[in-house]
Amino acid sequence: MSEVKLPAGAVPCLDKGFVRLVDSMGGDAAIVQAARVSYGKGTTKVSRDRALIRYLMRHSHSTPFEMVELKFHAKMPLFVARQWVRHRTANINEYSLRYSEAIDDFYIPEEKDIHFQSKFNKQGRDATDVPEELKAKTIAAFREMSQRSFELYDELNEAGIARELARAILPVNLYTQWYWKNDLHNTFHFLRLRMDEHAQYEIRVYAEAMAEMIKSVAPIAYEAFEDYRLNGMYFSKLDREIFRRRLPSRVVDDLLEDAAYQIVGSMQAAKPRTDDEVFGLYQEEGGQDSAGEFKTKFSLLEAEPGNVFELREFKQKLTQLQS
Ligand SMILES: Cc1cc2nc3c(=O)[nH]c(=O)nc-3n(C[C@H](O)[C@H](O)[C@H](O)COP(=O)(O)OP(=O)(O)OC[C@H]3O[C@@H](n4cnc5c(N)ncnc54)[C@H](O)[C@@H]3O)c2cc1C
Repeated sequence: MSEVKLPAGAVPCLDKGFVRLVDSMGGDAAIVQAARVSYGKGTTKVSRDRALIRYLMRHSHSTPFEMVELKFHAKMPLFVARQWVRHRTANINEYSLRYSEAIDDFYIPEEKDIHFQSKFNKQGRDATDVPEELKAKTIAAFREMSQRSFELYDELNEAGIARELARAILPVNLYTQWYWKNDLHNTFHFLRLRMDEHAQYEIRVYAEAMAEMIKSVAPIAYEAFEDYRLNGMYFSKLDREIFRRRLPSRVVDDLLEDAAYQIVGSMQAAKPRTDDEVFGLYQEEGGQDSAGEFKTKFSLLEAEPGNVFELREFKQKLTQLQS
């Protein structure tokens, strides 16, 4: 088996693979610039840029994110590449086994990654421990198959058989390499599917490494992606019906009240006002407490200032649940 050689900036993935960001175009500023169309870079405050990017992500205004381009160089087993290539919006150029001879790089799983087939999820692994001897047998099977298939491949090559045919006897744990270019919007879509716990471990490793690299290209956009896409939750009509029936209206009222405090706290942090003005804002936001209660509670408010638009949208969703 050949030695693992990592190109500059590459993050190792699995036993012999890697991924590296080769090039990128644009970042958070390009997203903001596209969204504002006619405004130049640096004309607004960073805090407003952040709010705008987060708004775009929350409302699936996706085209500004397409202004950022990312080009990765990755080396991964063929079975990982088969899953990866399903993301059709990317531009790919792959190492050719018609043109060049295969390199004897095969993925051999680590003991910790060998699990039983899940009984509940046909596409998953079980958490129960696999006995040591079965793990050893699995690794030996991977090694034996990889070595033998490569010996046969070599023999066919030596005998002058066309590479494009000889390669067909190599198993899918053989490593391949490619350059993969995509825009940020579609790369986020890739990450959301492939960083998910339902994605296969071997592709998740690459998605997680790529996520770290994207953070440095567009940190605010990545944070918004994490908050609203990766860790956000979607509720179906059925889910909403269950919530609506189960949520006593007093609970929703309490949440709305908390949201009113949070909104006013956020506005006050951004632009301080007098006590009377603050109470007026609180009432405008639907707060029900008396002026005295408000003053006491507001002075004890420990909530971190948030995004006022987002909090208002949250209130709107809560109100929809009640109706
Ligand atoms: C956990 C998991 C399990 C999976 N299991 C299977 C499986 O068992 N079998 C299987 O075959 N696949 C499977 N897949 C692959 C899956 O069905 C998708 O093909 C893959 O995730 C790519 O998703 P996509 O089409 O949304 O992405 P992309 O191809 O990147 O497309 C992004 C978006 O662009 C649009 N788009 C792209 N190309 C076109 C087009 N030509 N026409 C119209 N719209 C287009 C679509 O709206 C799409 O959502 C699985 C994926 C995951 C994450």
